[in-house]
Amino acid sequence: MEPLESGVLDGNAIGGLMLEVFGTEMTAAVSICGGCGAISQVAELAVYQPGLGTVVRCRHCDRVLMVFVRARDVTCVDLWGLASLG
Ligand SMILES: [Zn+2]
Repeated sequence: MEPLESGVLDGNAIGGLMLEVFGTEMTAAVSICGGCGAISQVAELAVYQPGLGTVVRCRHCDRVLMVFVRARDVTCVDLWGLASLG
């Protein structure tokens, strides 16, 4: 797998967020991309923090897999790009 571009974090960066949302450590969980079917550990995904929330993308096809948004002290996550997570 190619190295991440500068400024792009890996999935370990969302370990704390996922712990908050799911109540469990998820960086070792296996995600299946809903676009290309790539199977990756969460820790291997590409994480972008453009300022408004956190965007997690597939490193194979660049599809958005997860979006974390913080609103009123509650972190919400949208997993629409994932075929599977667990
Ligand atoms: Zn993909």
